[in-house]
Amino acid sequence: MSDTSAILPGATLGVLGSGQLGRMFAISARRMGYRVHTFSPDTDSPTGQVADVEVTASYDDLDAVADFAKQVSVVTFEFENVPSATAEAAARFAPVRPAGNVLHVTQQRLREKGTLRQLGFPTTPFRAVRSLPELESALRELGAPAVLKTAGWGYDGKGQTKINSLSEAASAWSLLATDEAILEGFVNYRLELSVIAARGPDGSFAAFPVFENSHSNHILDVTVCPARVSPKVAIEAERIARGVLESLDVVGVLCVEMFLTHDDQLLINELAPRPHNSGHLTFDANVTSQFEQQVRAICGLPLGSTELLRPAAMINLLGDVWSNGEPRWTEALALPDVKLHLYGKMSARPGRKMGHLTAMTNSADEAERLVREAKRRL
Ligand code: AMP
Repeated sequence: MSDTSAILPGATLGVLGSGQLGRMFAISARRMGYRVHTFSPDTDSPTGQVADVEVTASYDDLDAVADFAKQVSVVTFEFENVPSATAEAAARFAPVRPAGNVLHVTQQRLREKGTLRQLGFPTTPFRAVRSLPELESALRELGAPAVLKTAGWGYDGKGQTKINSLSEAASAWSLLATDEAILEGFVNYRLELSVIAARGPDGSFAAFPVFENSHSNHILDVTVCPARVSPKVAIEAERIARGVLESLDVVGVLCVEMFLTHDDQLLINELAPRPHNSGHLTFDANVTSQFEQQVRAICGLPLGSTELLRPAAMINLLGDVWSNGEPRWTEALALPDVKLHLYGKMSARPGRKMGHLTAMTNSADEAERLVREAKRRL
């Protein structure tokens, strides 16, 4: 099969990882008539509940990965922290989209920021840190406050700590307990933004409107779309995202998370080579969702319209929402412009992403107000 011939409905799509991103991908794929196989170490997973086949094996079990890839027309992922050997084993039997080189760049923060800087994209200021003396000299160069992050396998603020002064360096270094880290200058940003975009095997490109994100305890809390930024900022954010997808030759969906400074500079914080939590509202509010766009991009189909049908806001439902028993769903759903998504996870641990609510109305401000009201009612 040549790289640009489309994988048509009826074919089987493979997804590495089995969380909520895979679940929403599988829902979109099945709606279009594809079959879906998922691969992860878990059983009865959010994706497995929706997929045709759930393979349960370790990512290190390369024979299982090879068997999985033999059954599908294309492999994508919803969890990018799989070992590169896993992507390579899959790639012997099916195209992996985005390809292993994209995974390689994005799963290690130093490699990611280094590559972006080398390609000329604006990033947060950073230094590589491999010892306490290196941390201290990096802190002198970048100044405090700064954020120390483990170089590998980080997400949702895991493996990172803020350093407010040089005297905190030793305790931060021992807290992180790693031998490779990145120190970033603390960005006193005005807003956090993200651009989610897709690129097909033929180079076709489509970006969703810019998302505006607010975090709580380093975990995404609320996303609003359209972002409350000037058209100039929105155009620049999309231009940066397009450059990233093209430079890395991404086939699939990729999210660029950015900080917007008080003087309207955009700095890339990190990349996610897959659909992203900030794009969940596209499931309800856009002509094409980020998950359908992932299907289209990896299958070589024409990309769909990313148009936002109504201003929208999304709020995450973490396990904490269950602390007083089952949330009062009917109270939230009594607001008719609010949609409920739950991921089928059995245990509601604090901090675990269990679902989300999306509200759609006439303005970004009103959508944000409404979605917060809906969550309050739970
Ligand atoms: P990350 O895991 O890198 O996405 O970081 C999670 C969150 O921590 C971000 O969304 C920001 O809210 C905050 N954060 C991370 N890095 C920085 C930084 N260099 N300056 C300011 N805030 C940061």
